[in-house]
Parts: sequence; C-alpha cells; structure tokens
Amino acid sequence: MTLFTLLFALFLLLDASLRFWLARRQVAHVMRHRDAVPAIFADRISLRSHQRAADYTVARVRMGLIERIVDAGVLVGLTLLGGLQAIDLMLIRLFDNGFLSQLLLLASVGVIMMLVGLPFSLWRQFRLEARFGFNRMTLPLFFSDLAKNIVLSTLIGLPLAAAVLWLMTEAGTLWWLWAWLLWVAFNLVMLVAFPLWIAPLFNRFSPLEDETLAGRIRNLATRCGFPLNGLFVMDGSRRSAHGNAYFTGFGKARRIVFFDTLLSRLNHDQIEAVLAHELGHFHHRHILKRIVVSFALSLGFFALLGYLSTQLWFYVGLGVELVKFASFQAMALVLFCLVVPVFTFPFAFITNMGSRRDEFQADAYAASQSNADHLIAALVRLYDDNAATLTPDPLHSAFYDSHPPAAVRIARLRLAGGAQPA
Ligand SMILES: [Zn+2]
Repeated sequence: MTLFTLLFALFLLLDASLRFWLARRQVAHVMRHRDAVPAIFADRISLRSHQRAADYTVARVRMGLIERIVDAGVLVGLTLLGGLQAIDLMLIRLFDNGFLSQLLLLASVGVIMMLVGLPFSLWRQFRLEARFGFNRMTLPLFFSDLAKNIVLSTLIGLPLAAAVLWLMTEAGTLWWLWAWLLWVAFNLVMLVAFPLWIAPLFNRFSPLEDETLAGRIRNLATRCGFPLNGLFVMDGSRRSAHGNAYFTGFGKARRIVFFDTLLSRLNHDQIEAVLAHELGHFHHRHILKRIVVSFALSLGFFALLGYLSTQLWFYVGLGVELVKFASFQAMALVLFCLVVPVFTFPFAFITNMGSRRDEFQADAYAASQSNADHLIAALVRLYDDNAATLTPDPLHSAFYDSHPPAAVRIARLRLAGGAQPA
C-alpha cells in the first residue's frame, strides 16, 4: 500500500460519497415538491405531468447511482485488485510483439468498459425510457447502432491509439506535446467529419421543407449575422421522443439541425425563439471558447500524463507492477484515462458554472433578437415534453447540470422580456 494508493482510495471514496449525497438531496428535493406545480408554471403545466417529471427524475438519479457503483467496482477491480496487471501479463505471453500487445491492452479495456455499460444502456432505453413513453427504439436498431459504433471506434480509435503509442515510444521526452497536437488536429477534423459523414450513418438528414419556417429562420440568421450553410431536419423520432435542435460543424460544414420531434411540438414563433437562443451561443462565441478551453485543459492533461508515465509510483500505486518497463506506454494511457475522472469530479461544478453563464447570455440574446415570451413558451413546452424536473435540488444542479434550473431561467427571461412576474 503506497501513499498514492491511499490518495486514490480517498478520492474514490470522496467521489462516491459526493455523488451519493447529491443523489439523496435531489430525490428528497424533487419528492418534497412533487405534489404542487411551482407557481410560475402553474398555468402551463398540469399536476399530472409535474408528477411524471418527478418520477422520471428520481428513476434516472437512482439508475445513475447504481451504474456509478458498478463502474467504481470495475475500476477497483482493474487497478487495485490486479485486473489490468493480469490482462497485461496474458497479452505479453501471447504476443511477442510489444507494440501489438500494447495496442491490444487498450482495445481490451475499451471492450471491457463497453460490456459493462451495455446492460445499463439496454435497461435505460427499454425499461426506464420506455416506462415514461420516451423510447422509440427497437432492439434491432439498438444492436445495429452498437455494431456501427464498434466498427467506427475500431476504424478511428485504433489508428489514433496506435499513433499515440508510437509517439510515446519514438518522439522523446516531449512526446506528450506531439500527442496533444495530434489530439487537437483529430478534434478539428472531427468537427467537420462528424456532421458530414458520421452523423448520417445513424440518422437521416433532410432539408427543411416548410418554406414559411425556413424563410423566417433565414431572416433571423441574416439579422444575427450568422452564415447559414444548411437547414436540416433529423429523424430523431426513430430513437426517442425527446426533442432538440443544435448547430454543428464549422466553416462550410456549418449547419442547423432540428430534431423532427422538436418541430412537431413547437409553433413557428417558438422555434424561432429557440433558434435565436442557439444563435446567441454563436454570437457570444461560446462554442469557440469551449473548444479553446478544452484544448488548453487537454494540454495540461497531456503534460500531466507525460510526467506520470515516467513515475513508478503511479503504476505501483494503482496496482500494476510493470513486467517490462519498456512497454509501459499503453498501461500509462489506460491508468490515466480510468483514474483521472475520479480526481476531477469534485470540480465539475466549475465547468458547469461557466456553461450556465453561457446559457443566460444566449437567453438574453434570444430575448433581444426574437421574443422572450416565445422562448419561455418553448422552454416550458420542452420541459414538459421531456419530463425535466422544474424543482431540482440547487446543489445537485450545480454539479450536474449544464443548464440553469427551469425556474431561474424563466424568471430571468421574464425580466428580459419586460413581462410581469407571476
Ligand atoms: Zn443553450
């Protein structure tokens, strides 16, 4: 038992207790408010659907907690209990080629994580989501998605992993800097490749046919100085009744995508307001800022990985005795990816705080470019349709939610729109 083992165990415990405590708070808070619709929503949301949202929220929190406990168990099994060590030993015995056995170590961990997550995905989709009427997916579609994901991760992930391993072996002490550059390049390529080639493998994207609506959206985009390259409708209803709209890509690949489920539930005024909110993110350069911040953070993480990979205590502390120190690279990558989230969760509220500030800015922009009341109407409709709770626990929300709680958001919009508070 080393000092680092203790530290890891301590953070694992902290992570688990924090999640457990937040989950208890969330369930208690939602249940306490289950029997009355908050005043500002009282005229728009029925008690029945408020209670449905409460039950859906509680069910999801409970499921998330169970999944987390299993994940933590697997993590301990792989590290402190010697799972990774055993896999590594087996691969080294089976294959002479150090590079191949390293690549296979990465692949095996990927497969293990996928297998652990699979029952949860199935349960979530076909039990939880189905119970609340959200699931539209069939089992064949689920497994064809899974097969596509496996093929894609193999085609894209394996060469990327191989390139990083190669850099770790050949690029000297500053390998992590090269690996980071590769990571940045990869992400930039994916920004273009995802909307153009990957998303269409899973969904059908057709041009928005409603000319009146398309005209309004083009007007709004022009007014907001947004260069629009495409307006698409996605058949989200094949998988789920949840609705959404988003921007994707950049440059020539930039497009606005509406889920068909969103278009069918909102009127034109509301759709315009939702889009104005999205354009607010563009106007304030939130997406660009997020990309820059994530690249800066990942530079820090790569530098840390570069340092940790040369420290014996890092491996030993996490239950790995390196058999051949020459083939430490894959092990360093695996340990790092598995263990870092345990140390970062207590800081999740910081990134979410930034994200919620962005949401307020985008809302204010929508109020100025479109109409606050229409956005409020759209949001209430979406909260209701998606069974999102209107009464989250403030602390739970601070840790988990990228968007502000419904009541806070609407209260601010009412001020922006000059409407009378209820
Ligand atoms: Zn937003």
